[in-house]
Amino acid sequence: MKTHARVVVIGGGVVGCSVLYHLTKFGWSDVLLLERSELTSGSTWHAAGGFHTINGDTNMAALQGYTIRLYKELEEITGMSCGLHHVGGVTIADTQERMDMLKAERAKHRHMGLDTEILSPEEIAKIAPATNVDGILGGLYDPLDGHLDPSGTTHAYARAAKMGGAEIETHCMVKETNQLPDGTWEVVTDKGTVIAEHIVNAGGLWAREVGEMAGVYLPLHPMEHQYIVTDDIPLIYEADKEHPHVMDPAGESYLRQEGRGLCIGFYEQPCRPWAVDGTPWKFGHELLPDDFDKIEDSIEFAYKRFPALAEVGVKSVIHGPFTFAPDGNPLVGPVPGKKNYWSACGVMAGFSQGGGVGLTLAQWMIEGEPERDVFAMDVARFGKWITPGYTLPKVIENYQNRFSVVYPNEELPAARPMNTTPMYDIQKELGAVFGQQNGLEVANYFAEGDEPRYETPSFRRSNAFDATAREVKAVREAVGINEVQNFGKYDVKGPNARAWLNKIMAGRVPKIGRLSLTPMLAHSGRLIGDFTMSCLAEDHFQLTASYGAQDFHTRWFEQHEQDGVTVENISDRRTGFQIAGPNARKVLEAVTRADVSAEAFKFLDVKQITIGMSSCIVQRVSYTGDLGYEIYTDAMNQRALWNTLWIEGQKHGMKPFGMRAMMSLRLDKFFGSWLSEFSPDYTAGETGLDRFISFKKPDDFIGRAAAEKEKAEGSARTLVAYEVEAKDCDVHAYEPVWINGEVQGFCTSGGYSHYAQKSIAMALIPAEQAREGNEAEIEILGHMRKARQIVTPLFDADGARMRG
Ligand SMILES: Cc1cc2nc3c(=O)[nH]c(=O)nc-3n(C[C@H](O)[C@H](O)[C@H](O)COP(=O)(O)OP(=O)(O)OC[C@H]3O[C@@H](n4cnc5c(N)ncnc54)[C@H](O)[C@@H]3O)c2cc1C
Repeated sequence: MKTHARVVVIGGGVVGCSVLYHLTKFGWSDVLLLERSELTSGSTWHAAGGFHTINGDTNMAALQGYTIRLYKELEEITGMSCGLHHVGGVTIADTQERMDMLKAERAKHRHMGLDTEILSPEEIAKIAPATNVDGILGGLYDPLDGHLDPSGTTHAYARAAKMGGAEIETHCMVKETNQLPDGTWEVVTDKGTVIAEHIVNAGGLWAREVGEMAGVYLPLHPMEHQYIVTDDIPLIYEADKEHPHVMDPAGESYLRQEGRGLCIGFYEQPCRPWAVDGTPWKFGHELLPDDFDKIEDSIEFAYKRFPALAEVGVKSVIHGPFTFAPDGNPLVGPVPGKKNYWSACGVMAGFSQGGGVGLTLAQWMIEGEPERDVFAMDVARFGKWITPGYTLPKVIENYQNRFSVVYPNEELPAARPMNTTPMYDIQKELGAVFGQQNGLEVANYFAEGDEPRYETPSFRRSNAFDATAREVKAVREAVGINEVQNFGKYDVKGPNARAWLNKIMAGRVPKIGRLSLTPMLAHSGRLIGDFTMSCLAEDHFQLTASYGAQDFHTRWFEQHEQDGVTVENISDRRTGFQIAGPNARKVLEAVTRADVSAEAFKFLDVKQITIGMSSCIVQRVSYTGDLGYEIYTDAMNQRALWNTLWIEGQKHGMKPFGMRAMMSLRLDKFFGSWLSEFSPDYTAGETGLDRFISFKKPDDFIGRAAAEKEKAEGSARTLVAYEVEAKDCDVHAYEPVWINGEVQGFCTSGGYSHYAQKSIAMALIPAEQAREGNEAEIEILGHMRKARQIVTPLFDADGARMRG
């Protein structure tokens, strides 16, 4: 075994082998995979081998599409068989809500180039005759669905990697991973020590244990999972072609042909986590004991849906564990806080996602960034707050919801409340209905009187509609107060702080007492942040950005450290409120001795003043687009600050407002939001954030060359706003935009403007199509809705109120 390698990949399951292959594919051949037993010795060997493209996240779906298309390439490169069966698959719906969801998925697929189609019950019965279609409303057919041979596929990845120069050492157990002072990794195994520049944790079932070796906690957990294979079924073996996959969400099952019979697996409600306190090292090629009790109800349901199952016996039962992250997506990328330590774990659908995970990780390692927005599977999407105690109930919930309808406004209940601010009880008293963001309870809206304290999950306008309208009205006509805990906040200090900001941010760094908005760009020019930058002193700045991107941003800051500057994540230490609306200034004037008149405290000013008893940083800016102030203080002071603002606010018609109102208010001004309009999939030029880039500053900020090129050449697509003739359902995201009878764009977000009483969509469309008044159609839940491009903000179009 070699003693040095550029990369050591730990784990020879389908994911580790895919990473190894992709590293060689993109040019790194000095790569070594270490496997403690034979290849496929974790979850991989007992997988059912099914694959599909459908995923709620469009980028995940695209990577699943890549994975599936890769198998042919692997077969061609290696001459080995992956045992591919491209039989197609149908997800069936027996409720209107499920049918709505499938139609929404179908619509998204149009601009993703996926050829799915909605089938009637009769069509389902024809292509999938094992299905009893009584009570079925229809289904979504995906021709790319299929299954393969898990072991053959993993070995094909391994062979292709070896052909590219990789080495694989089996029966080689990694015992320790120690980072040396020069940043390289010492990988201690039972066959000797390897020094590696990078290590990849692809430890699958043992990823937690492998992570611990480096002091890394990876939020994932194994769950037991069972599928059964039946004896021969005449309906199946007498058919002239292979039976397609059938996903039956009501029965929480997936079914496919296996030889001359059928194979069916379940995501049962009485599910069971496995190896809660750690995966035993001796576990490997054994299965878990059959457990029919656990799936009794599921089987009973399946007998009705697929009557042929009841007529034959069970040939074999496969019961094994595999891992999930709290949201069911993989954990991929550079682990925050650990240089050159990469995660490729938590992959619950290795045969749908393994190729995409390998591709992403290899691009990230070799080129410095993946080619698309992979935040949905970025290991940095969970913060430092996450614990095994949180992960476990979330993983159970995720398993149980595997086939549930996913609503855009849904707030899942497990592991809550986790993090709360000092305002939690006060907000509850005021009727707050909470959501969770990055482990934090955030008020979505405030119910009043006998309104339910629970938002009904729905694709349509929900029961939060009236409360949201009330809160919007209060902001636009009086003053609203909203907690600003859910911003990521960073304190940047030191003699080189300004120089560092000039390099890391594309925008103009403000003078003392001023703030500016700025995009943060990757080298490729794509957006990796959308920041407010405030100058408190020549060597002291506050940055604010998305709360959920804390580890994502911190990782980037750490990767671009510079002497003479410290960056501290203070998101949970500095908190406060924003007040917004025409009476906001009156409230502020009454609670401070500082001069906050329009002349003394201008739009985009920042001041350090005392409010009531609290020492505060106040910024004159508001995402509501109204006259507004963001007021930050120490978390220990938050209640005192609240009392001061709230008591005075009552004289001026103050109401609390939540995230639902905020997202409606920002639509009035067409303000984009992080991960909707602004994400690593888009550039500043496409989304209009280029107006905040300072091309004049002399600094060679990251992404400058790409941004200049885009400026010179123009962007192919552009972000626009539409007024939509929606009925009871607004745009959420990714609905296709039809222009001149073809899909030419897609929505990034949307909603209802309570102020203007209009349904609004934001969308990316070809730049040459962007024109005021241009007509389009947006497909919402299977219905074509007329849309007209608008360019004048619905509120305060001349900015008089916001800046006045
Ligand atoms: C019953 C069942 C059915 C499934 N059906 C499907 C399906 O139809 N489709 C699908 O896509 N997925 C399915 N899965 C999930 C699939 O099995 C996993 O997504 C996939 O196997 C994950 O692969 P992996 O490489 O991440 O992990 P693993 O397969 O667990 O591989 C990890 C490897 O790392 C090695 N390793 C760990 N620690 C060390 C160490 N210290 N030193 C050296 N080596 C180490 C292990 O020996 C192991 O070989 C199913 C799972 C189960 C249990």
